[in-house]
Amino acid sequence: MQRTASVEINLNALTHNLSVVRSHAGNAKIMAVIKANAYGHGMLKIAQHLQDKVDALAVACVEEAVVLREAGINNRIVVLQGFHHAQHLQLCGQYQLEPVCHQLWQVNLLLESSLNQPLKTWLKVDTGMHRLGLSADEAEHAYQQLANSARVEKIYLMSHFANADEPENALNQQQLERFNTLHSALSLQSSPESSLANSAAIVSMPAAIKDWVRPGIMLYGASPLANKSAAELGLKPVMRLSSKIIALTEVKAGEAIGYGSSWICDLDSKIAVISIGYGDGYPRHASAGTGVCIHDQLCPLVGRVSMDMVCVDISKLKSPAKVGDEAVLWGENPGVDEVAKSSGTIGYELLCHAGKDQ
Ligand SMILES: *Cc1c(COP(=O)(O)O)cnc(C)c1O
Repeated sequence: MQRTASVEINLNALTHNLSVVRSHAGNAKIMAVIKANAYGHGMLKIAQHLQDKVDALAVACVEEAVVLREAGINNRIVVLQGFHHAQHLQLCGQYQLEPVCHQLWQVNLLLESSLNQPLKTWLKVDTGMHRLGLSADEAEHAYQQLANSARVEKIYLMSHFANADEPENALNQQQLERFNTLHSALSLQSSPESSLANSAAIVSMPAAIKDWVRPGIMLYGASPLANKSAAELGLKPVMRLSSKIIALTEVKAGEAIGYGSSWICDLDSKIAVISIGYGDGYPRHASAGTGVCIHDQLCPLVGRVSMDMVCVDISKLKSPAKVGDEAVLWGENPGVDEVAKSSGTIGYELLCHAGKDQ
């Protein structure tokens, strides 16, 4: 179904953002993270654009990787959650995927498997996030077992930061030190290639840039840092979410707008109704005042976001608006991070939701 709301993807901006990754990451290999439908940008389209430009692609689960292979993507593909069960592991073998092993049962399943071809395998250690990953002791032992296994072609070491979006957070340094300690211990046998940095660490923690970096959000042009904008980091938005004015109305001072009558006009106001709402991925929690760009001018959202409409106060618009005119919900201006901030969430979530049909 063609809706008025439209998501446009600017692949030149993606290429530009990749060059920003390179400017921080030096010679590190790049694993472009395209999980969650490439953060709403369309996994296949993004993979096709990046396939000659990066060293590997990363997805969350085996099903995503199989879609990429079936579509002819021949890049190295890392599966960040690894296999969830034995059939997944078979698919890793069949499609030559590179699973992350983050639990001992995965290590054991791999060791006991009867794969014909050995797999490149990523061993994930928990350095302080306490979500996925083996303890350092488990990882050291698993590393030895995997290194001696005919099922494994090569082992890589990785970990993930919990708070890299806050560069001052003390846990970052701790995680880095724990990672380095383990890596040094493993290096007594054979120094494994390693990977630690997500976008936030790529732009703020040079010491976390190891053999591989794993950019996600910065490729799509949103800021990975809590206190720095995408523009300050030289990033360009890849997604532009827009729609159209479908009605114009005038509301008298003292009258309320929308569900719950939560917005009351303090002056006589000109209102534009835009055909977009939470059904299209625009956040229901966007607060009054969130910017919507009409005729290159930011106008404030007023009243509650409905399922497929929002109301915008265009009283201060310099040029008269008419039905059919475009309204930009995010892109260059406002940036998705600004909309996220005034909706109590992060750019990641907004991009994923708005782009779910890409
Ligand atoms: C999602 C993810 C990334 C990318 O994170 P960004 O903050 O989007 O750069 C990197 N590594 C792992 C393990 C991830 O799950």
